[in-house]
Amino acid sequence: MKRLLSRGPLGNDVYVPRHGDPTYSVRHYDLELTIVLVTNALSGIATLSCTAIEDLDDLTLDLYRLRVSKLKLDGAPPAKFSQRGHHLVVRPRQKIPAGTDFTLEIAYHGSPQPMPGPDGDAGWEELADGLIVASQPHGAPSWFPCNDRPDDKATYAFGVTVPQGYTAIANGRAVATKRRGSTVRHEFAESSPMATYLATVQVGRYVPLKGEAAGVDLTTWCPPGRKVAVADAFADQPAMIEAFSRLFGPYPFQTYAAVVTDDELEIPLEAHSLSIFGSNLVDRDWSAQRLIAHELAHQWFGNSVTLRHWRDIWLHEGFACYAEWLWSEESGGRPAAAHAQEQWGRLAELKQDLLMSDPGPDDMFDDRLYKRGALTLHALRLRIGDEAFFDLLRTWTERHRHSGVTTDDFVELTHELTGVDGAEFFGAWLDETALPPLT
Ligand SMILES: [Zn+2]
Repeated sequence: MKRLLSRGPLGNDVYVPRHGDPTYSVRHYDLELTIVLVTNALSGIATLSCTAIEDLDDLTLDLYRLRVSKLKLDGAPPAKFSQRGHHLVVRPRQKIPAGTDFTLEIAYHGSPQPMPGPDGDAGWEELADGLIVASQPHGAPSWFPCNDRPDDKATYAFGVTVPQGYTAIANGRAVATKRRGSTVRHEFAESSPMATYLATVQVGRYVPLKGEAAGVDLTTWCPPGRKVAVADAFADQPAMIEAFSRLFGPYPFQTYAAVVTDDELEIPLEAHSLSIFGSNLVDRDWSAQRLIAHELAHQWFGNSVTLRHWRDIWLHEGFACYAEWLWSEESGGRPAAAHAQEQWGRLAELKQDLLMSDPGPDDMFDDRLYKRGALTLHALRLRIGDEAFFDLLRTWTERHRHSGVTTDDFVELTHELTGVDGAEFFGAWLDETALPPLT
């Protein structure tokens, strides 16, 4: 069973052009960062534990507008390193044979800026009184040197020094906080493998609201003055974690954090084990609740089970959008079927020129892709029934936990578990632009 559409080679993603080097892999990033907010200054030491995939005469990292002052390869200066565009090219003194582990220690500094890409700017962004990092899909090089491709996951340790009075929050578990004069250093560790674009640091005047759900440590960070409103708006997060753990399988990480900024943000965004919301989403309305559910669902679909190519973005957004409709159903609101009918009717009125399996970099975050992705899942649920559908979702998150996937993987798993012919069912939804009927 093969679908009609052919797919290109790895390591050449036109959605995020010239990012990532497929000739080596990073296993661990250790990021020691000092941030001065008033001047938007960052100085960092990044220590990368790497493995050569091919014999390496040179290797390339991604780093945008930040200057490297010192670089060591296995503790010694390399033959050469140079920066051109957003590339940092390192030439070792001798060829590094395939399979060899090596370490890069990179000292760098500058004033980080959001990184432009085909879909707009992403990455480091200053707030009125703090900063966020929202890197999907290409913004990671705006704040640390990396092998910026979503199929190269690594573990992370962060030490982030900020002025007293501010909190720095990164992915994973809070390990320690130490005051040093007029600064404070926050240490975080993410022990599950994470894609570069999902790494983040958030800095602001935040206080934590602590909770727990389904064995997961839950922290909601917000400005002190918004505590009561945020506690109310985010009160359903534990129930969401419990519902999604039942429907999708166990929550994939040790912790979950929601950061609510004092600023309003155009859109909320997911990071690994963390989501970022603007103060405009501090609301009990469905328009806010659906997005709180959406970002949480990305922890399963996107952050644990991660696309290998950006053209498969529906595997993140379609699933997270369907999770909104499932939360509606679970929380006693409208059933998913009602959302599906309504959205199918809306899409039927819109232009049908979006190819789900390869929407192109300009349309990868088009709202039609989100809704049609969710409709694809709803149509599949109608076809195979609830039991087989949720069994499929749980098998998907279990089999590909903490790893990378393609659309073909999902099509093949569906065929394996349910016998549904991928070319026939998914072909109509994903490889053709005309909207198929819902039943
Ligand atoms: Zn999303």
